[in-house]
Amino acid sequence: MMQNEWGGTTFPLVQAHEVIGRVTALGSNANGPQIGERVGVGWASASCMHCQPCLGGEQNLCPKRKLMAADSYRNYSRCDSRCGLY
Ligand SMILES: [Zn+2]
Repeated sequence: MMQNEWGGTTFPLVQAHEVIGRVTALGSNANGPQIGERVGVGWASASCMHCQPCLGGEQNLCPKRKLMAADSYRNYSRCDSRCGLY
């Protein structure tokens, strides 16, 4: 990304896979932070919430986790409200 290897990098660039921002929309089953609240999201944006790592609070180790970078849209990201919000 820093060298524009994939041809889509827009500079200036702040490169990371964790994000911080404000909740702008909620899904129908969301619980937790409300619209307007400031949240931080780790590199896992969703997980199964049933496996041993998930049950132990380590959703980042879930074999079915979804990565933040794979579910982000420039100025917005989607995240499961049960996973990775701080
Ligand atoms: Zn899991």
